[in-house]
Amino acid sequence: MTRKLSCREILDNLSAYVDAELDPSLCEEIEAHMQGCNPCVAFLNTLKKTVVLVRYSGEPEQVPQEVHIDLHRFLRDRCKDDGPGKES
Ligand SMILES: [Zn+2]
Repeated sequence: MTRKLSCREILDNLSAYVDAELDPSLCEEIEAHMQGCNPCVAFLNTLKKTVVLVRYSGEPEQVPQEVHIDLHRFLRDRCKDDGPGKES
């Protein structure tokens, strides 16, 4: 029985997902979530670009400040939606 992941859980696992470090089952769940969640898809695309840039620039792997800021803003916005209470 699979439980639906929230956007927050998706985001928590996204960097491992991009690095292909996740269990295949978790990858599938993320991909399934992406089917119906445009904000997560947009964030994944941003993260992928960032990872590629960091890799090719030869810098030590770290998430640029800009992405941290975006992630926090994104999570704040999503948390409002994902918070307790009924779906609207
Ligand atoms: Zn989502």
